[in-house]
Amino acid sequence: MTTLFISDLHLTPERPDITRAFQQFMTGKALEADTLYILGDFFEVWIGDDDDAPYVLNIIKWLREYSDSGHQLFFMCGNRDFLIGDNFAKAAGATLLSDPTVIDLYGIPTVLMHGDSLCTQDLEYMAFRQMSRAPAWQTELLAKPLAERRAIAQHLRQQSKSMSSMKAEDIMDVTPEEVVNTMNQLGATRMIHGHTHRPNVHPLQLGDTQGERMVLGDWGEKLWWIEATADSAPTLRQELI
Ligand code: MN
Repeated sequence: MTTLFISDLHLTPERPDITRAFQQFMTGKALEADTLYILGDFFEVWIGDDDDAPYVLNIIKWLREYSDSGHQLFFMCGNRDFLIGDNFAKAAGATLLSDPTVIDLYGIPTVLMHGDSLCTQDLEYMAFRQMSRAPAWQTELLAKPLAERRAIAQHLRQQSKSMSSMKAEDIMDVTPEEVVNTMNQLGATRMIHGHTHRPNVHPLQLGDTQGERMVLGDWGEKLWWIEATADSAPTLRQELI
């Protein structure tokens, strides 16, 4: 039994190397595992589940082939692909997870998050997050024609220079107290998240208990994943793309 975790692939037609690395991952390492968790920012941008771009349909096909071949696929949205919804999940054969979600990872209560909600010091982003997660805001945006949403996404990408939290190199790190509070509230001793592009494993003291925060990396120059089995502690792994 093996469970894998990935995040922050930021898949886009502009990065065929990352796209190819993901396809190889799905037909290699992921196929050898039983379960795959994708923890947000899988896509660089998501304009709605009705997007019929060939690039998107192809990625969904790879996910579908994975879930159709008897593998479990779980998906959590990130701050780039937060508009992903039930229709995408249905097409991919994935189960959508809310952020945070606590799972029993081979006996260890483990909280899964994308990670953006832990970066509470970025007030500009926290305000955007609150606005953009409101159902009414999303409904209004998704009601616009596809072409218009494509134009908005394009415009946002060009504007991203002025919004620091949209730039990878300016992503603030998590607030340590927020991590401990979240884990205590949810009764978890391990946390797995991405978003910050600071892959690492951090030991934590949770009262009398030793805890751990594992941070996935983004798929820029390397691909990053966490591998967990029943017999060994989860390990953060990397490979050159
Ligand atoms: Mn992110």
